[in-house]
Amino acid sequence: MQFRDLGLPATITRALEEAGYTEPTSVQAEAVPAALAGRDLLVSAQTGSGKTAAFLLPALTKLSERSTMRGNGPRVLVLTPTRELAQQVEKNAQVYGKDLRWMRTACLVGGSSFGFQIRALSRPIDLVVATPGRLMDHMRSGRIDFSRLEMLVLDEADRMLDMGFIDDIEAIVKATPETRQTVLFSATLDGIVGKMAERMTREPQRIEIARTETSGGTIEEHLLYADDLNHKHRLLDHILKESGFDQCVIFSATKAYTEELADKLSDQGYSAACLHGDMPQSWRNRTLNDLRRGRIKILVATDVAARGIDVPTITHVVNFDLPKQAEDYVHRIGRTGRAGRDGTAITLAESKEFHKVRRIEQYLKRQIVEGVIEGMEPTRRPPKGPRRTGGKPGGYGNNRNASGNGYGRDRREGGYGRGEGYQKRGPRRDGPSSSPRSSSHRAD
Ligand code: AMP
Repeated sequence: MQFRDLGLPATITRALEEAGYTEPTSVQAEAVPAALAGRDLLVSAQTGSGKTAAFLLPALTKLSERSTMRGNGPRVLVLTPTRELAQQVEKNAQVYGKDLRWMRTACLVGGSSFGFQIRALSRPIDLVVATPGRLMDHMRSGRIDFSRLEMLVLDEADRMLDMGFIDDIEAIVKATPETRQTVLFSATLDGIVGKMAERMTREPQRIEIARTETSGGTIEEHLLYADDLNHKHRLLDHILKESGFDQCVIFSATKAYTEELADKLSDQGYSAACLHGDMPQSWRNRTLNDLRRGRIKILVATDVAARGIDVPTITHVVNFDLPKQAEDYVHRIGRTGRAGRDGTAITLAESKEFHKVRRIEQYLKRQIVEGVIEGMEPTRRPPKGPRRTGGKPGGYGNNRNASGNGYGRDRREGGYGRGEGYQKRGPRRDGPSSSPRSSSHRAD
C-alpha cells in the first residue's frame, strides 16, 4: 500500500515522500482511512509503530481545508503525557504539514514560559499539542476556546492515566464540543483506559496493532544478570568499551542516579549528560538538541524524561536499572532501532530481581535471551522456575552469538567484531527455541 492510496491530500503525501517515508506502517494503513472517514478510534499501538503519523495525517488533512468557523481556538488538540513527546509531535506535524503554509501550531507544556504560549493562543491556532497540566492552567485562565475543535487526540492515554492525569483529562474532554472526533492511542485498551475511552468516544472503531509489528529496525535484546551494583558497573564499563556504540541511552531508576552516573561517565572521558524531570525545561531541550546533533554520546535518563526521544543515531540502550513497569521496557528499548535502523538493547538485572524480569517477559509474551560475559559471570544465578533459562547447571552456555549482532567484543575470545564476545546461555528447557534471533523484534 502507498500513502496516496490512503486518501491523503497531495501536499501531505509529498511531504511524507520528502521525509523518506515510502509506505505506511500497519497502524497508519488501518487508522488513517478510518479517521479520514470521521470515525472515533481506539488504537492500541506502541511507540515506534508510526502512531504519531497515524493520528497526525488525518488531523492535518482536516487542517488542509480552512475552517469557516470564527474564533482563535484550536481545530485539533493532541494531549500527550510528557513535554518531550508533545514537542516531538509538534515537530512531526511541522514536517508532515510543511506545505500547509497557513497552519499555526503551539506546544503547551509545563516548564516553558507562559508568555510565549499566551501569545500563541491570542491568534487563530490550528493545532495545539499539550500536556494536560499546562493545558488546564490555560483553561482556568480562560485563554482557550474549544468552540472550533474538530478533533481530539489522546496519545499514550495509558501513560497519562498512570501519571495521574485522569481528572484533568475528564475536565478537558468535557470542555470540548460533543461534535468532535476522538482518537485515542494507548499501549493497552484494557482496564481503566478502556473504561475512560468508552466514556469519551462514540461507536469507536478498535484497531489493535501487534506489539511486534512496527516501523523500526530490528532490536537485538540481551539480558545480563549481576550480583550487585558494583558488578553492574563493571558490566556497563565493558559494554561501553566493547560495544562500538555510536550513541547510547542508559536508563536509571532515580533522578539522582542519572546525575551521578552521567558525572561518572563524563569523568571517564565520555561525552555524557543526564535527563530527568526535575531539570528546567530549557535545559532538557538543550540536552535533547545536543543528543540529536551528536554532541552527547551517552544520555543517562529516567523513564519519564526519555519518552518521545526520537533520535535515529541511538545505537544502544542499556537498562542499568530495571523499569518499574513492564511496559516501560518496550518504551525504553524503542529509543533505539528507529527509522529503520537496527539497535541493541542490553538489560542489567541483579539476580534477586529475576521476578521483575519475568514480569517483563510475561508482558512481552516472549523471553529475553539471557547472556553472560566471560569472566564477568554472576556468582548467584536466578532460581529455577518455569521460565528459567536452561543450560548446564551452574555453568554458562557456550554458544557464541551467531547472529553477529551481540553487543560485545570480548578480548579473551579474540574477536572484535559486533557480537563476537557475547555468550548466550543454552535454550530454555520449556521455552521457545532460543535461536540467536529469538529475542529480536522490530522496534517499538
Ligand atoms: P512513532 O511511533 O510515531 O514514534 O514513530 C517512530 C519512528 O518511525 C519515527 O522516527 C517516525 O519518523 C518513523 N516513521 C513513522 N512512520 C513511518 C513510515 N511510514 N515510514 C518510515 N518511517 C516512519
